[in-house]
Amino acid sequence: MLRQYELVELVKSYDPDADEDALNRAYVFAMKKHGAQLRESGDPYYSHPIEVAGILTKFKLDSASIIAALLHDTVEDTDTTVEEVRQLFGDQVASIVDGLTKLAMIEQKSGNSKQAENFRKLLLAMSEDIRVLLIKLADRLHNMRTLHFCKPEKRMRISKETLDIYAPLAERIGMQEVKSELEEIAFSELHKEAHDSIVARLNFLREQGSNIVPKIIRQLEKDMKDNGIKASVSGREKTPYSIWRKMQQKNASFEQLSDIMAFRIIVDDIGSCYQALGVIHSKYHMIPRRFKDYISTPKPNGYKSIHTGVIGPENTRIEIQIRTTEMHEIAEKGVAAHWAYKQGQRVEGKNFRWIRELLEILEQAQNPEEFLENTKLEMYNDQVFCFTPKGDLIGLPINSTPVDFAYAIHSSVGDSCVGAKINGEIRPLRTILQNGDQVEVLTSKAQHPSTEWERFVVTGKAKAAIRRYVRAHKRDQFITLGQEILERLFKSENLEFSEKGLINVLQNFEADSIDDVYAKVGEGLVTGWDVLKAVYPAYKQSKLEKVVKAIKVPSLKKVLKKGKDKGEPLKIKGLIPGMAVHYAGCCHPLPGDRIVGIVTTGKGVAVHTIDCKLLEKFANEPERWLDIAWGDDAYGETHVGRLKIMLSNEPGALGDLSNLIARCNGNISNLNIVYRTVSYFELLVDIEVKDIKQLSEIIDVLKASKVVSYVARAAQ
Ligand code: MN
Repeated sequence: MLRQYELVELVKSYDPDADEDALNRAYVFAMKKHGAQLRESGDPYYSHPIEVAGILTKFKLDSASIIAALLHDTVEDTDTTVEEVRQLFGDQVASIVDGLTKLAMIEQKSGNSKQAENFRKLLLAMSEDIRVLLIKLADRLHNMRTLHFCKPEKRMRISKETLDIYAPLAERIGMQEVKSELEEIAFSELHKEAHDSIVARLNFLREQGSNIVPKIIRQLEKDMKDNGIKASVSGREKTPYSIWRKMQQKNASFEQLSDIMAFRIIVDDIGSCYQALGVIHSKYHMIPRRFKDYISTPKPNGYKSIHTGVIGPENTRIEIQIRTTEMHEIAEKGVAAHWAYKQGQRVEGKNFRWIRELLEILEQAQNPEEFLENTKLEMYNDQVFCFTPKGDLIGLPINSTPVDFAYAIHSSVGDSCVGAKINGEIRPLRTILQNGDQVEVLTSKAQHPSTEWERFVVTGKAKAAIRRYVRAHKRDQFITLGQEILERLFKSENLEFSEKGLINVLQNFEADSIDDVYAKVGEGLVTGWDVLKAVYPAYKQSKLEKVVKAIKVPSLKKVLKKGKDKGEPLKIKGLIPGMAVHYAGCCHPLPGDRIVGIVTTGKGVAVHTIDCKLLEKFANEPERWLDIAWGDDAYGETHVGRLKIMLSNEPGALGDLSNLIARCNGNISNLNIVYRTVSYFELLVDIEVKDIKQLSEIIDVLKASKVVSYVARAAQ
């Protein structure tokens, strides 16, 4: 246990002006107050707050934090009051101790909902003063270090909570060392077998590899020296827990995880970081997608470094991190590194935007479990970094979409987003954002969150907001949809549609109002035909309904045979003979595309590409779907394909474009300027082609042209 003078000396070693008297008084106060209380280890209780204070000196925290650490359990576990602390040690210390006490009071309870509640209190407390979190993490670290003295059941609960909440929080504020140690201890408690076998395997590899880590370090040191870069190189194996996590995520066995070694090159300045990177990449093969530049785009927790994966010395797959000494300090100590003793002022909540965001999710979640699920996702995911048009950086979990981005800016932006421009291009809302994308959210007051979005958003904030909206507005949507379905159906059958007719049949559908009937139809609980038949019992089945029924009868073989027998040209296989057919204008299917037929009301069969967005509308009407394919004869005739093209706004560009298309035997049948700026046009161009192959050739040729900056098949 740290002695009184040792603790005071530690603090004075980095803060010569520390309040020595107050530190001494706090040390004695804690000892006296905890008196004869014992820890489960049998040690005197006061050893715990003193060790917690000791941990915090490693992060060079200010005296108020060290004093609060010494006192952190006095109000909870002894007769001390917050007032007493305030009188003896001042307002700052008292309010930190108060925050920690409130947390501890509810922490003793277990269960998932209590865990969420703990988390909420923790967030609230630390949004006031981030030092509450720093002390809480040190407290948890010491408790984990002495966990083996507790009963098994408590060990499991504490370990789980540590992995779920405290380790991610430590990571979130950049306390890498604390995070790793918390994870390792919790991992060995919760998954002892997995932990032990990974450790054993690592030991074995270490012996086998005849100490490969020092060899690689020596080679990297030589590489730097040969190129005149002053650097210190270190290497380590990844921790058992991070290896295990990776095994879980990638579903890989330990053998497949080749990059279990990470190396660090620490240099003097930023310029040298990129020089070192140049040396590494020119000498070793880079592994695709493993390069990340967190120097030009730091993580939200302030982390800066260059990461790259290469096939390094000894032909081994390794990860290399390159950073300056200063970046290294911040990487290991995170927020605490900024919280040097000199900057004794409060850290404002606005610097910790993510804390606010978590609180916001909390307010929108229906129950604690949902909240915990959302926030867990939030904290574990890797990040991508995107920019607003003004250049503000928005950090998002990996696989985020423009909708996530919109909600990250503000809930109202998310709620009203209709589209997005990514790097100047209009892209679908489900597009996955990449690092460095510039995202402009297009909004409309008429837009509302859609259930569809829930399928592709990944941030807890977006999920919570969409669910909340949908919960409130689902019924409205069903009503509108149901009314629309009924009106169309009645109209297509040339029958009068009136509310009066519906009122008479309410009880047929156990409905209290017309809206109830609409909602049922909209939700698909009752079909439009059910309603029509109830209103007009004498009405005979329409042709359409007969057709729909009939589709189920003939097998594909029969249909094909019939078509052939008649000797008709077979453009599309799987149609019902004699039925009108047209190509959908939304997706412009071409021979070579995979296609599907939809039986429309009155217009025969519409042919769509299998990935056409419009098909989602028919998801609940399988009876309208036809399994069709292109027939051999389809390849002889011409079809219309539609391209979206971004063209430079320069003289002759349009002429170049039509020449290129003509050279590929394509014939422009329609051209539409969608959008025009000083520097470019956005065009929709319809081109007559034979098949998908020809259109692809045209796309390739256009891509190569200097006047075309973007070209792709247009889709709705
Ligand atoms: Mn404690």
